Amino acid sequence: MATLKLIKHVGIVGTIECLTGLRIGGAKEDIEIGGMDNPIIRDPRTRWPYIPGSSLKGKLRSALEYKYCGSKINSGQPCGCADNSCVVCRLFGPHRKPHHGLGPTRVLVRDARMDAAGEDPDRWIEVKSENMIERSTGVATNPRPVERVVPGAKFAFEISVRIFEGDNADQLIATVKEGLGLIEAEYLGASGSRGYGKVRFDYTVLDPFVGRVAGPSAG
Ligand SMILES: [Zn+2]
Repeated sequence: MATLKLIKHVGIVGTIECLTGLRIGGAKEDIEIGGMDNPIIRDPRTRWPYIPGSSLKGKLRSALEYKYCGSKINSGQPCGCADNSCVVCRLFGPHRKPHHGLGPTRVLVRDARMDAAGEDPDRWIEVKSENMIERSTGVATNPRPVERVVPGAKFAFEISVRIFEGDNADQLIATVKEGLGLIEAEYLGASGSRGYGKVRFDYTVLDPFVGRVAGPSAG
């Protein structure tokens, strides 16, 4: 296989604003023993909630697959067709196919953070009681507490797209932007069908992207 030459990076950099409560689950044992049953994910050091890059990337991928890979999706597996024309495989890498001719994964997604110096992270978190309906009987079970990030919270996000020789840069960037729009039309995180996770992206496209200049409150 010929060596692919990197031409540049293009950055999509901005904020994710929560319009409804956002819930991205964390592992209970990462938080504290005897704590909340359904915690959101937080940085164990600062206790600020964050959106893992892998969560945003996974949602971006699946939203685009519904549009571009509909007939290829079997049993809920991500697209692994590795076709030269498959924009999803080119951006994200073909699923479970180590040998292919598309080159490296194009999309890099950082963790989206909302750290603000001097603020209390708990101000941005609420605990809601949720009634779960037992499907077979239709009876509501005991309400259980669920943590979520409150509407109005903003996370800083950063997506870097690698453009290699031969790539259609405009198409790749347009597809990532389209994917963000599809997430706006759907949801991020858990319980989207209950109205959670409606978000809005505000961003600028930095072309070329040579890394972000650290701001005064960079965390
Ligand atoms: Zn594919």
